[in-house]
Amino acid sequence: SGARVRRAHNKRLPQYLERGVDVKFSDVAGLGKIRLELEEIVKFFTHGEMYRRRGVKIPGGILLCGPPGVGKTLLAKAVAGEAGVNFFSISASQFVEIYVGVGASRVRALYQEAKENAPSVVFIDELDAVGRERGLIKGSGGQERDATLNQLLVSLDGFEGRGEVITIASTNRPDILDPALVRPGRFDRKIFIPKPGLIGRMEILKVHARKKPMADDVDYMAVASMTDGMVGAELANIIEVAAINMMRDGRTEITTDDLLQAAQIEERGMLDRKERSPETWKQVAINEAAMAVVAVNFPDLRNIEFEGMLSRQSLLDHITVQLAPRAADELWYGEGQLSTIWAETADNARSAARSYVLGGLSEKHHGLSNFWAADRINEIDLEALRVMNFCYDGAKEILQQNRKLMDAVVDELVRKKSLTKQEFFNLVELHGVIKPMPPSI
Ligand code: ADP
Repeated sequence: SGARVRRAHNKRLPQYLERGVDVKFSDVAGLGKIRLELEEIVKFFTHGEMYRRRGVKIPGGILLCGPPGVGKTLLAKAVAGEAGVNFFSISASQFVEIYVGVGASRVRALYQEAKENAPSVVFIDELDAVGRERGLIKGSGGQERDATLNQLLVSLDGFEGRGEVITIASTNRPDILDPALVRPGRFDRKIFIPKPGLIGRMEILKVHARKKPMADDVDYMAVASMTDGMVGAELANIIEVAAINMMRDGRTEITTDDLLQAAQIEERGMLDRKERSPETWKQVAINEAAMAVVAVNFPDLRNIEFEGMLSRQSLLDHITVQLAPRAADELWYGEGQLSTIWAETADNARSAARSYVLGGLSEKHHGLSNFWAADRINEIDLEALRVMNFCYDGAKEILQQNRKLMDAVVDELVRKKSLTKQEFFNLVELHGVIKPMPPSI
Protein backbone atom coordinates (compact mmCIF):
# COMPACT_ATOMS: atom_id res chain seq x y z
CA SER A 1 0.00 0.00 0.00
CA GLY A 2 1.13 3.51 -0.69
CA ALA A 3 -0.36 4.81 2.53
CA ARG A 4 2.01 6.27 5.06
CA VAL A 5 1.25 6.42 8.71
CA ARG A 6 3.19 9.04 10.56
CA ARG A 7 3.02 8.43 14.27
CA ALA A 8 4.20 11.20 16.53
CA HIS A 9 5.75 10.09 19.84
CA ASN A 10 3.84 7.29 21.38
CA LYS A 11 0.42 8.20 20.05
CA ARG A 12 -2.34 5.67 20.38
CA LEU A 13 -3.05 3.69 17.25
CA PRO A 14 -5.55 5.33 14.95
CA GLN A 15 -8.89 3.60 15.29
CA TYR A 16 -10.53 4.58 12.05
CA LEU A 17 -7.57 4.05 9.75
CA GLU A 18 -8.00 1.29 7.22
CA ARG A 19 -4.67 -0.30 6.60
CA GLY A 20 -3.55 -1.83 3.34
CA VAL A 21 -6.05 -0.04 1.14
CA ASP A 22 -4.62 -0.71 -2.27
CA VAL A 23 -7.43 0.03 -4.67
CA LYS A 24 -6.74 1.71 -8.00
CA PHE A 25 -9.04 3.25 -10.58
CA SER A 26 -8.41 0.19 -12.73
CA ASP A 27 -10.28 -1.86 -10.12
CA VAL A 28 -13.41 0.20 -10.64
CA ALA A 29 -15.11 -0.43 -13.97
CA GLY A 30 -17.87 1.13 -16.01
CA LEU A 31 -17.35 4.69 -14.80
CA GLY A 32 -17.18 6.48 -18.12
CA LYS A 33 -16.71 10.19 -17.70
CA ILE A 34 -17.09 10.11 -13.93
CA ARG A 35 -13.52 8.91 -13.81
CA LEU A 36 -12.27 12.37 -14.87
CA GLU A 37 -13.98 13.98 -11.91
CA LEU A 38 -12.37 11.51 -9.55
CA GLU A 39 -8.98 11.98 -11.12
CA GLU A 40 -9.32 15.64 -10.28
CA ILE A 41 -9.83 14.82 -6.62
CA VAL A 42 -6.58 12.87 -6.71
CA LYS A 43 -4.91 15.99 -8.12
CA PHE A 44 -6.14 18.04 -5.18
CA PHE A 45 -3.77 15.90 -3.12
CA THR A 46 -0.92 15.50 -5.56
CA HIS A 47 -0.97 19.04 -6.98
CA GLY A 48 -2.49 20.88 -4.03
CA GLU A 49 0.14 23.62 -4.12
CA MET A 50 -0.66 24.39 -7.76
CA TYR A 51 -4.35 24.81 -7.00
CA ARG A 52 -3.64 27.04 -4.03
CA ARG A 53 -1.20 29.22 -5.98
CA ARG A 54 -3.78 29.80 -8.64
CA GLY A 55 -6.42 30.60 -6.11
CA VAL A 56 -8.56 27.59 -7.00
CA LYS A 57 -10.56 26.41 -4.02
CA ILE A 58 -10.13 22.79 -3.07
CA PRO A 59 -13.41 21.31 -1.90
CA GLY A 60 -13.52 20.01 1.65
CA GLY A 61 -16.12 17.43 0.91
CA ILE A 62 -17.34 15.40 -2.02
CA LEU A 63 -20.64 13.62 -2.07
CA LEU A 64 -20.91 10.34 -3.98
CA CYS A 65 -24.58 9.79 -4.67
CA GLY A 66 -26.10 6.58 -5.91
CA PRO A 67 -27.86 3.36 -5.01
CA PRO A 68 -26.17 0.72 -2.82
CA GLY A 69 -23.56 -1.46 -4.47
CA VAL A 70 -22.57 0.77 -7.38
CA GLY A 71 -19.03 1.14 -6.05
CA LYS A 72 -19.07 4.36 -4.01
CA THR A 73 -16.91 2.90 -1.25
CA LEU A 74 -14.62 1.30 -3.78
CA LEU A 75 -14.20 4.65 -5.52
CA ALA A 76 -13.33 6.48 -2.32
CA LYS A 77 -10.67 3.87 -1.65
CA ALA A 78 -9.39 4.21 -5.20
CA VAL A 79 -8.98 7.96 -4.71
CA ALA A 80 -6.88 7.32 -1.59
CA GLY A 81 -4.99 4.54 -3.36
CA GLU A 82 -4.19 6.61 -6.43
CA ALA A 83 -3.15 9.63 -4.37
CA GLY A 84 -1.13 7.48 -1.99
CA VAL A 85 -2.77 8.94 1.10
CA ASN A 86 -4.28 7.38 4.20
CA PHE A 87 -7.88 6.18 4.21
CA PHE A 88 -10.10 6.71 7.24
CA SER A 89 -13.60 5.39 7.21
CA ILE A 90 -16.68 5.22 9.35
CA SER A 91 -20.28 4.40 8.70
CA ALA A 92 -22.57 7.23 9.74
CA SER A 93 -24.90 4.71 11.33
CA GLN A 94 -22.12 4.29 13.92
CA PHE A 95 -22.67 7.91 14.87
CA VAL A 96 -26.28 7.59 15.81
CA GLU A 97 -26.29 4.70 18.22
CA ILE A 98 -26.06 4.38 21.97
CA TYR A 99 -25.48 7.33 24.23
CA VAL A 100 -25.88 10.99 23.81
CA GLY A 101 -22.56 12.62 23.01
CA VAL A 102 -20.86 9.50 21.72
CA GLY A 103 -21.59 10.30 18.09
CA ALA A 104 -20.06 13.76 18.34
CA SER A 105 -16.95 12.50 20.09
CA ARG A 106 -16.50 9.81 17.46
CA VAL A 107 -16.59 12.45 14.74
CA ARG A 108 -14.02 14.50 16.64
CA ALA A 109 -11.71 11.48 17.11
CA LEU A 110 -12.07 10.51 13.46
CA TYR A 111 -10.97 13.93 12.23
CA GLN A 112 -8.26 14.22 14.84
CA GLU A 113 -6.74 10.98 13.54
CA ALA A 114 -7.14 12.00 9.92
CA LYS A 115 -5.36 15.26 10.63
CA GLU A 116 -2.53 13.65 12.55
CA ASN A 117 -2.00 11.29 9.64
CA ALA A 118 -2.60 13.74 6.80
CA PRO A 119 -2.80 13.75 3.88
CA SER A 120 -5.86 11.58 4.14
CA VAL A 121 -9.26 10.73 2.78
CA VAL A 122 -12.07 10.52 5.31
CA PHE A 123 -14.87 8.34 4.03
CA ILE A 124 -18.31 8.55 5.63
CA ASP A 125 -20.67 5.84 4.48
CA GLU A 126 -24.46 6.44 4.50
CA LEU A 127 -24.14 10.12 5.34
CA ASP A 128 -27.94 10.47 5.36
CA ALA A 129 -28.04 8.46 8.60
CA VAL A 130 -26.60 11.45 10.45
CA GLY A 131 -27.02 14.22 7.91
CA ARG A 132 -30.77 14.16 7.52
CA GLU A 133 -32.29 17.54 7.71
CA ARG A 134 -32.35 18.44 11.38
CA GLY A 135 -35.61 17.57 12.97
CA LEU A 136 -36.49 14.65 10.71
CA ILE A 137 -37.57 11.87 12.93
CA LYS A 138 -35.65 8.67 12.65
CA GLY A 139 -33.67 6.39 14.87
CA SER A 140 -32.89 7.21 18.45
CA GLY A 141 -33.41 10.69 19.90
CA GLY A 142 -33.13 13.51 17.42
CA GLN A 143 -31.04 15.56 19.79
CA GLU A 144 -28.18 13.11 19.62
CA ARG A 145 -28.01 13.44 15.89
CA ASP A 146 -28.09 17.21 16.10
CA ALA A 147 -25.00 17.23 18.29
CA THR A 148 -23.28 14.81 15.93
CA LEU A 149 -24.24 16.76 12.86
CA ASN A 150 -23.02 19.98 14.43
CA GLN A 151 -19.69 18.39 15.22
CA LEU A 152 -19.41 17.15 11.65
CA LEU A 153 -20.04 20.65 10.34
CA VAL A 154 -17.37 22.06 12.65
CA SER A 155 -14.88 19.38 11.59
CA LEU A 156 -15.55 19.96 7.91
CA ASP A 157 -15.02 23.69 8.31
CA GLY A 158 -11.72 23.05 10.05
CA PHE A 159 -10.17 21.76 6.82
CA GLU A 160 -11.82 24.01 4.36
CA GLY A 161 -9.95 24.35 1.12
CA ARG A 162 -6.54 23.25 2.36
CA GLY A 163 -6.55 19.89 0.67
CA GLU A 164 -4.82 17.94 3.44
CA VAL A 165 -7.92 16.11 4.57
CA ILE A 166 -10.68 15.59 2.03
CA THR A 167 -13.94 14.04 3.06
CA ILE A 168 -15.82 11.78 0.71
CA ALA A 169 -19.29 10.75 1.79
CA SER A 170 -21.76 8.39 0.20
CA THR A 171 -25.50 8.64 0.18
CA ASN A 172 -28.48 7.33 -1.69
CA ARG A 173 -30.62 10.26 -0.55
CA PRO A 174 -28.88 13.56 -1.30
CA ASP A 175 -32.35 15.13 -1.33
CA ILE A 176 -32.91 14.71 2.41
CA LEU A 177 -29.53 15.97 3.60
CA ASP A 178 -29.44 18.92 5.93
CA PRO A 179 -28.90 22.05 3.82
CA ALA A 180 -26.05 23.09 6.10
CA LEU A 181 -24.07 20.09 4.91
CA VAL A 182 -24.18 20.99 1.26
CA ARG A 183 -23.29 24.64 1.72
CA PRO A 184 -20.19 25.96 -0.11
CA GLY A 185 -16.99 24.79 1.53
CA ARG A 186 -18.62 21.65 2.86
CA PHE A 187 -20.10 18.94 0.63
CA ASP A 188 -20.34 21.33 -2.25
CA ARG A 189 -19.52 18.82 -4.93
CA LYS A 190 -21.89 16.04 -5.89
CA ILE A 191 -20.98 13.16 -8.14
CA PHE A 192 -23.77 10.85 -9.23
CA ILE A 193 -22.88 7.20 -9.73
CA PRO A 194 -25.68 5.57 -11.69
CA LYS A 195 -26.32 1.86 -12.09
CA PRO A 196 -24.11 0.51 -14.87
CA GLY A 197 -25.47 0.09 -18.40
CA LEU A 198 -24.83 -2.87 -20.66
CA ILE A 199 -21.20 -2.03 -21.45
CA GLY A 200 -20.55 -1.01 -17.86
CA ARG A 201 -21.82 -4.36 -16.61
CA MET A 202 -19.59 -6.18 -19.04
CA GLU A 203 -16.56 -4.21 -17.89
CA ILE A 204 -17.34 -4.84 -14.23
CA LEU A 205 -17.68 -8.57 -14.87
CA LYS A 206 -14.30 -8.52 -16.60
CA VAL A 207 -12.60 -6.67 -13.75
CA HIS A 208 -13.76 -9.30 -11.29
CA ALA A 209 -12.88 -12.09 -13.70
CA ARG A 210 -9.24 -10.97 -13.66
CA LYS A 211 -8.56 -12.82 -10.44
CA LYS A 212 -10.40 -16.01 -11.46
CA PRO A 213 -9.61 -18.94 -13.77
CA MET A 214 -11.93 -18.06 -16.63
CA ALA A 215 -12.37 -20.17 -19.75
CA ASP A 216 -10.97 -18.43 -22.84
CA ASP A 217 -14.27 -18.31 -24.66
CA VAL A 218 -16.42 -16.77 -21.91
CA ASP A 219 -19.16 -14.61 -23.44
CA TYR A 220 -19.27 -11.62 -21.08
CA MET A 221 -21.70 -9.78 -23.31
CA ALA A 222 -24.25 -12.59 -22.92
CA VAL A 223 -24.03 -12.32 -19.12
CA ALA A 224 -24.15 -8.52 -19.25
CA SER A 225 -27.31 -8.58 -21.33
CA MET A 226 -29.19 -10.77 -18.88
CA THR A 227 -28.24 -8.74 -15.80
CA ASP A 228 -30.14 -5.56 -16.57
CA GLY A 229 -30.62 -3.48 -13.41
CA MET A 230 -27.83 -5.12 -11.47
CA VAL A 231 -25.06 -3.17 -9.75
CA GLY A 232 -21.36 -3.89 -9.26
CA ALA A 233 -21.84 -5.67 -5.95
CA GLU A 234 -24.28 -8.11 -7.56
CA LEU A 235 -22.07 -8.64 -10.59
CA ALA A 236 -19.08 -9.35 -8.35
CA ASN A 237 -21.25 -11.85 -6.55
CA ILE A 238 -22.11 -13.61 -9.81
CA ILE A 239 -18.42 -14.26 -10.41
CA GLU A 240 -18.03 -15.66 -6.88
CA VAL A 241 -21.06 -17.94 -7.18
CA ALA A 242 -19.87 -19.13 -10.61
CA ALA A 243 -16.47 -19.98 -9.09
CA ILE A 244 -18.13 -22.06 -6.37
CA ASN A 245 -20.15 -23.83 -9.06
CA MET A 246 -16.96 -24.72 -10.92
CA MET A 247 -15.29 -26.02 -7.75
CA ARG A 248 -18.28 -28.11 -6.84
CA ASP A 249 -18.15 -29.84 -10.21
CA GLY A 250 -14.43 -30.43 -9.85
CA ARG A 251 -13.61 -28.34 -12.93
CA THR A 252 -10.72 -25.92 -13.29
CA GLU A 253 -12.25 -23.17 -15.44
CA ILE A 254 -15.30 -20.94 -15.10
CA THR A 255 -17.56 -21.16 -18.16
CA THR A 256 -20.27 -18.93 -19.62
CA ASP A 257 -22.81 -21.45 -18.32
CA ASP A 258 -21.50 -21.08 -14.76
CA LEU A 259 -21.96 -17.34 -15.08
CA LEU A 260 -25.44 -17.56 -16.56
CA GLN A 261 -26.59 -19.91 -13.81
CA ALA A 262 -25.12 -17.66 -11.15
CA ALA A 263 -26.82 -14.68 -12.76
CA GLN A 264 -30.15 -16.46 -12.52
CA ILE A 265 -29.64 -17.11 -8.82
CA GLU A 266 -28.74 -13.46 -8.27
CA GLU A 267 -31.79 -12.36 -10.26
CA ARG A 268 -34.11 -14.45 -8.10
CA GLY A 269 -32.61 -12.91 -4.98
CA MET A 270 -33.20 -9.47 -6.45
CA LEU A 271 -36.84 -10.23 -7.20
CA ASP A 272 -37.40 -11.51 -3.67
CA ARG A 273 -36.04 -8.29 -2.27
CA LYS A 274 -38.27 -6.24 -4.53
CA GLU A 275 -41.43 -8.14 -3.70
CA ARG A 276 -40.89 -7.76 -0.02
CA SER A 277 -40.70 -4.03 -0.15
CA PRO A 278 -44.25 -2.57 0.25
CA GLU A 279 -44.92 -4.57 3.42
CA THR A 280 -41.42 -3.78 4.63
CA TRP A 281 -42.18 -0.12 4.11
CA LYS A 282 -45.13 -0.36 6.45
CA GLN A 283 -43.00 -2.14 9.03
CA VAL A 284 -40.32 0.50 8.80
CA ALA A 285 -42.94 3.21 9.23
CA ILE A 286 -44.35 1.51 12.32
CA ASN A 287 -40.85 1.18 13.72
CA GLU A 288 -40.03 4.85 13.23
CA ALA A 289 -43.41 6.11 14.35
CA ALA A 290 -43.18 4.03 17.53
CA MET A 291 -39.85 5.55 18.49
CA ALA A 292 -41.09 9.06 17.82
CA VAL A 293 -44.37 8.62 19.67
CA VAL A 294 -42.70 7.10 22.71
CA ALA A 295 -39.92 9.70 22.65
CA VAL A 296 -42.50 12.51 22.73
CA ASN A 297 -43.37 11.28 26.20
CA PHE A 298 -39.85 12.02 27.36
CA PRO A 299 -39.06 15.62 26.56
CA ASP A 300 -36.02 15.46 28.84
CA LEU A 301 -34.41 12.91 26.59
CA ARG A 302 -34.27 15.43 23.83
CA ASN A 303 -32.47 18.02 25.88
CA ILE A 304 -29.51 16.08 27.12
CA GLU A 305 -26.27 17.47 25.84
CA PHE A 306 -23.57 16.32 28.20
CA GLU A 307 -21.25 13.63 27.07
CA GLY A 308 -21.68 9.92 27.41
CA MET A 309 -23.72 10.10 30.60
CA LEU A 310 -27.38 9.75 31.19
CA SER A 311 -29.16 10.23 34.45
CA ARG A 312 -31.02 7.30 35.94
CA GLN A 313 -34.42 8.34 34.66
CA SER A 314 -33.27 9.37 31.22
CA LEU A 315 -31.42 6.09 30.82
CA LEU A 316 -34.69 4.29 31.53
CA ASP A 317 -36.44 6.59 29.06
CA HIS A 318 -33.76 5.84 26.50
CA ILE A 319 -34.24 2.09 26.95
CA THR A 320 -37.99 2.52 26.62
CA VAL A 321 -37.60 4.38 23.32
CA GLN A 322 -35.22 1.73 22.00
CA LEU A 323 -37.74 -0.97 22.84
CA ALA A 324 -40.63 0.87 21.20
CA PRO A 325 -40.14 -0.79 17.78
CA ARG A 326 -40.25 -4.25 19.37
CA ALA A 327 -43.35 -3.32 21.34
CA ALA A 328 -45.02 -1.91 18.24
CA ASP A 329 -44.23 -5.08 16.34
CA GLU A 330 -46.00 -7.10 19.01
CA LEU A 331 -49.01 -4.79 19.05
CA TRP A 332 -49.38 -4.57 15.28
CA TYR A 333 -48.32 -8.00 14.14
CA GLY A 334 -48.76 -10.18 17.18
CA GLU A 335 -46.28 -11.91 19.40
CA GLY A 336 -43.69 -14.33 18.11
CA GLN A 337 -42.91 -12.29 15.04
CA LEU A 338 -39.16 -12.12 14.58
CA SER A 339 -37.96 -9.17 12.66
CA THR A 340 -34.63 -7.65 11.78
CA ILE A 341 -36.36 -4.30 11.88
CA TRP A 342 -36.15 -3.93 15.63
CA ALA A 343 -33.11 -6.14 16.21
CA GLU A 344 -30.72 -3.23 16.32
CA THR A 345 -32.68 -1.00 18.65
CA ALA A 346 -33.44 -3.95 20.93
CA ASP A 347 -29.70 -4.50 21.05
CA ASN A 348 -29.16 -0.88 22.03
CA ALA A 349 -31.71 -1.37 24.79
CA ARG A 350 -29.97 -4.49 26.02
CA SER A 351 -26.59 -2.85 26.34
CA ALA A 352 -28.11 0.24 27.94
CA ALA A 353 -29.93 -1.96 30.46
CA ARG A 354 -26.66 -3.64 31.34
CA SER A 355 -25.01 -0.26 31.81
CA TYR A 356 -27.90 0.71 34.00
CA VAL A 357 -27.33 -2.23 36.28
CA LEU A 358 -23.54 -2.13 36.13
CA GLY A 359 -23.56 1.58 36.84
CA GLY A 360 -25.27 0.83 40.13
CA LEU A 361 -28.42 2.69 39.08
CA SER A 362 -30.63 -0.25 39.75
CA GLU A 363 -32.02 -0.18 43.29
CA LYS A 364 -31.22 -3.78 43.72
CA HIS A 365 -27.53 -3.36 43.05
CA HIS A 366 -27.02 0.00 44.55
CA GLY A 367 -23.64 0.22 46.21
CA LEU A 368 -22.58 -3.31 45.34
CA SER A 369 -18.87 -3.75 45.11
CA ASN A 370 -17.04 -6.54 43.36
CA PHE A 371 -19.44 -6.56 40.45
CA TRP A 372 -17.39 -8.82 38.27
CA ALA A 373 -17.32 -11.81 40.53
CA ALA A 374 -18.36 -14.70 38.32
CA ASP A 375 -21.52 -15.53 40.22
CA ARG A 376 -22.64 -11.94 39.80
CA ILE A 377 -22.67 -12.02 36.00
CA ASN A 378 -25.82 -14.04 35.79
CA GLU A 379 -27.45 -11.87 38.40
CA ILE A 380 -26.58 -8.76 36.42
CA ASP A 381 -28.16 -10.18 33.28
CA LEU A 382 -31.26 -11.10 35.19
CA GLU A 383 -31.54 -7.64 36.65
CA ALA A 384 -30.94 -6.10 33.21
CA LEU A 385 -33.74 -8.27 31.89
CA ARG A 386 -36.03 -7.03 34.65
CA VAL A 387 -35.18 -3.44 33.69
CA MET A 388 -35.89 -4.23 30.04
CA ASN A 389 -39.22 -5.85 30.80
CA PHE A 390 -40.21 -2.87 32.85
CA CYS A 391 -39.33 -0.48 30.03
CA TYR A 392 -40.93 -2.72 27.44
CA ASP A 393 -44.24 -2.62 29.29
CA GLY A 394 -43.89 1.14 29.51
CA ALA A 395 -43.39 1.41 25.75
CA LYS A 396 -46.39 -0.81 25.09
CA GLU A 397 -48.56 1.22 27.41
CA ILE A 398 -47.63 4.47 25.68
CA LEU A 399 -48.26 3.00 22.23
CA GLN A 400 -51.64 1.60 23.22
CA GLN A 401 -52.75 4.86 24.77
CA ASN A 402 -51.65 6.78 21.70
CA ARG A 403 -53.03 4.48 19.04
CA LYS A 404 -54.62 7.34 17.12
CA LEU A 405 -51.43 9.33 16.95
CA MET A 406 -49.48 6.21 15.97
CA ASP A 407 -51.85 5.41 13.10
CA ALA A 408 -51.67 8.97 11.85
CA VAL A 409 -47.87 9.04 11.92
CA VAL A 410 -47.62 5.62 10.24
CA ASP A 411 -50.00 6.72 7.49
CA GLU A 412 -48.02 9.88 6.86
CA LEU A 413 -44.74 8.01 6.84
CA VAL A 414 -45.99 5.37 4.42
CA ARG A 415 -47.24 8.13 2.18
CA LYS A 416 -44.30 10.51 2.33
CA LYS A 417 -41.42 8.21 3.38
CA SER A 418 -40.18 10.78 5.86
CA LEU A 419 -41.52 13.54 8.10
CA THR A 420 -40.06 16.79 9.30
CA LYS A 421 -40.11 17.49 13.00
CA GLN A 422 -42.70 20.18 12.34
CA GLU A 423 -44.95 17.77 10.45
CA PHE A 424 -44.62 15.29 13.26
CA PHE A 425 -45.49 17.84 15.92
CA ASN A 426 -48.44 19.00 13.86
CA LEU A 427 -49.81 15.48 14.14
CA VAL A 428 -49.07 15.46 17.86
CA GLU A 429 -51.03 18.67 18.20
CA LEU A 430 -53.89 17.34 16.12
CA HIS A 431 -54.29 14.05 17.95
CA GLY A 432 -52.89 14.97 21.32
CA VAL A 433 -50.48 12.86 23.28
CA ILE A 434 -51.49 10.81 26.28
CA LYS A 435 -48.82 10.29 28.89
CA PRO A 436 -49.47 7.33 31.10
CA MET A 437 -48.23 7.71 34.67
CA PRO A 438 -44.91 5.96 34.90
CA PRO A 439 -44.95 3.17 37.48
CA SER A 440 -41.85 3.12 39.63
CA ILE A 441 -39.35 0.42 38.96
P1 ADP B 1 -21.43 1.15 -2.43
O1 ADP B 1 -20.42 1.81 -1.54
O2 ADP B 1 -21.87 2.00 -3.57
O3 ADP B 1 -22.60 0.56 -1.69
P2 ADP B 1 -19.32 -0.76 -2.77
O4 ADP B 1 -18.19 0.08 -3.21
O5 ADP B 1 -19.32 -1.17 -1.34
O6 ADP B 1 -20.70 -0.11 -3.14
O7 ADP B 1 -19.35 -2.06 -3.70
C1 ADP B 1 -19.32 -3.36 -3.16
C2 ADP B 1 -18.45 -4.24 -4.03
O8 ADP B 1 -19.04 -4.40 -5.32
C3 ADP B 1 -17.08 -3.67 -4.31
O9 ADP B 1 -16.17 -3.98 -3.29
C4 ADP B 1 -16.72 -4.32 -5.61
O10 ADP B 1 -16.26 -5.65 -5.39
C5 ADP B 1 -18.05 -4.41 -6.33
N1 ADP B 1 -18.27 -3.27 -7.22
C6 ADP B 1 -19.22 -2.32 -7.09
N2 ADP B 1 -19.15 -1.42 -8.08
C7 ADP B 1 -18.10 -1.78 -8.86
C8 ADP B 1 -17.51 -1.26 -10.04
N3 ADP B 1 -17.99 -0.14 -10.63
N4 ADP B 1 -16.44 -1.89 -10.56
C9 ADP B 1 -15.96 -2.99 -9.96
N5 ADP B 1 -16.47 -3.54 -8.86
C10 ADP B 1 -17.55 -2.96 -8.30
